[in-house]
Amino acid sequence: MAKHKQILLKNIREEGQHLLEKAESRGAYKVIRKALEMDPLKIIDEVKNSGLRGRGGAGFPTGLKWSFVPRDTGKPVYLINNADESEPGTFKDRLLLENDPHLVIEGMLCAAWALQSEWSCIYIRGEYAYPYTRVQAAIDECYEKGYLGENIFGTNFTHHMVVHRGAGAYICGEETALLNSLEGKKGQPRLKPPFPAVAGYYACPTVINNVESLSNIPFIIENGGEAYKSIGVENSAGTKLVSASGHINKPGIYEIEMGYPLMDFIEDECGGVRDGHNLLAVIPGGSSVPVMRAEECKGVNLDYDSMKNAGSSLGCAGFMVMDDSTDVVEAVLNLSHFYSHESCGQCTPCREGGHWIEKIFRRIAEGNGMPGDLKLIESLCNQIGGHTICAFGDTMVLPYRSFIQKFEKEFKERISNVLKGVEHERVPMDFQSELVSIGSAH
Ligand code: SF4
Repeated sequence: MAKHKQILLKNIREEGQHLLEKAESRGAYKVIRKALEMDPLKIIDEVKNSGLRGRGGAGFPTGLKWSFVPRDTGKPVYLINNADESEPGTFKDRLLLENDPHLVIEGMLCAAWALQSEWSCIYIRGEYAYPYTRVQAAIDECYEKGYLGENIFGTNFTHHMVVHRGAGAYICGEETALLNSLEGKKGQPRLKPPFPAVAGYYACPTVINNVESLSNIPFIIENGGEAYKSIGVENSAGTKLVSASGHINKPGIYEIEMGYPLMDFIEDECGGVRDGHNLLAVIPGGSSVPVMRAEECKGVNLDYDSMKNAGSSLGCAGFMVMDDSTDVVEAVLNLSHFYSHESCGQCTPCREGGHWIEKIFRRIAEGNGMPGDLKLIESLCNQIGGHTICAFGDTMVLPYRSFIQKFEKEFKERISNVLKGVEHERVPMDFQSELVSIGSAH
């Protein structure tokens, strides 16, 4: 098992880490005191220099995003922590929110000072009821101690923080849908531009960052951007939380250094594919990225460039492993049901096309597929991708196309069996859902 630098999970196993007193005993809120003595622009430079890229899935450079915020517009600047973690296969932010909320809050305070923002919000998915109670309790503790509110840490900096619970829509993880939801409107994406950095929450400059991204900020300020950049590989600095699930012996949340070999991750960290089976495929970045067949995984590393070169994406590292018992038609039907259900309904190609695709996958799975079905799905994908308001439509078609392309034989076999009158017994997905491991072993 490889030894990985631990930035985010180093305190996670300690009992009571969610409580302020315990968190302070390991050094929480020391970095924000240092940050408040620094020039805010210098912090932005450090974050830029660190090479940190957004951990919500898009991988946009965090410091660059901060630098887009116009200064001295006379409008308030808002900071939103996107904790609407809903991508299928992804559950890493939940761990930070639940077990180390003071790391998350300290990261937000550092970002708020850099951006000169006096108000921030944690937008947490409604289903995260328990993490919500932990985060709210941590914020309450901070107000009691004077770490939030007026003149924090004896400076003239004022900062208020609130938590807002979502109502269960996946699309509210898209940043402009999130803003609409926060403003009390329907959670539907906005046309861009303008981008939130210029006109976001109530048309004011707004930075929206993911939980994991913000939790890296204290390390960067404490140790400097260069120290962060020295971890990982070129273009993919730092560590990455990976939510590993599926047909592996040790599903869980692991902190790995960027650039770690994918196959070593499965074998050494996840305990390998479950006994008696072989690896069939991996969806490496959450459900919205192309699937990779086992043979494509060899020689690929867990970082942005390597995954891209392999034809997939690191995304938010919702790493789902499928062994040779998997019925790929059922697997993609499962995904298509999710996407058709979660379309916000604004764009016709996404709203209608998503449902049609699900219906076609369902009839194939149920043994009623027709010879032209795969071509029909491809044609629908072409009409959805690039023709919608937000990236939901573009990303939805990635797994569909890749499953059909990489498992064409299986799809065709299922369809031709129908024509031959061969019965197919449907096998439900049986992914192991219980976590057995947290953090990378030393
Ligand atoms: Fe809504 Fe889908 Fe259009 Fe995005 S692509 S705005 S989710 S209908």
